[in-house]
Amino acid sequence: MHILILGTAAAEGIPGLFCDCRVCTIAREVGGRECRSRTSVMINDDLKIDFPPDTFYHTVRYGLNLRNLRLLLFTHIHEDHFSVPELHYSSNSFVSQPLENPITVAGSAQVITKLSEQLDLGHVPYNLQTMEPFIPYHFGRYTVTPIIAHHAPGLIAYNYIIEESSHKLLYGCDTGWYDERTWCYLEKEQLDGVIAECTKGRIVGGYDGHMGVDEVIRLKSRLENSGAITTGTQVVTVHYSHLGGMTQSELEQELSKQGIAAGYDGLQVTI
Ligand SMILES: [Zn+2]
Ligand SMILES: [Zn+2]
Ligand SMILES: [Zn+2]
Repeated sequence: MHILILGTAAAEGIPGLFCDCRVCTIAREVGGRECRSRTSVMINDDLKIDFPPDTFYHTVRYGLNLRNLRLLLFTHIHEDHFSVPELHYSSNSFVSQPLENPITVAGSAQVITKLSEQLDLGHVPYNLQTMEPFIPYHFGRYTVTPIIAHHAPGLIAYNYIIEESSHKLLYGCDTGWYDERTWCYLEKEQLDGVIAECTKGRIVGGYDGHMGVDEVIRLKSRLENSGAITTGTQVVTVHYSHLGGMTQSELEQELSKQGIAAGYDGLQVTI
């Protein structure tokens, strides 16, 4: 399974549009890996997780052709992941040739309800699929199991276990520390790779719907202790806020000591 990390920022990107904190200032000065677009990943060339407002930029930067997309999974309806207006550009009014095959768009009932309300479904080539948590769904060569994230009150957020050719990835974004029901499910898994969010950086405590360095280290060790991963399993972080107070080089320094890779825009991972 080939994973291209398209973006690694939380809601407002880094540098934040109107922010001049230390992390944003360094990002403006240094550029490169210190700058981050909104989080999303592409798996192989046909499965995408989330559709952030930076999707156009991602297609240009990485040379993506979204006509190859077969499956689009949504984690939740926060706007940094769920840019519905952009999804209209697949309709016949905006393409020279209609898409050959419809794209399956899948997520929680909340995601699918919002999509049904906001998309002009008669004119866009999408098959909407509601998924219930902890049930495996088969989409072509992929088996996708949504698990319940711990993210925001009143909002359903999914993380995903994605399996292809006997390789399993946990996509853990956006979430704080999982509830026990999710842990029970996860601890029985055997994973070949983990992508975990690290929104809060060096912040300890605070908002519990996101993780920071501390929680990511604890997540890795709990997965190791249960046998869901080994010490050699790739664990990569994404979805950072500048308000977490850490630059890419500081994240790399801190996380590499724990065998965790600090993700950046454009990082490629194969599991
Ligand atoms: Zn987010
Ligand atoms: Zn900032
Ligand atoms: Zn969110």
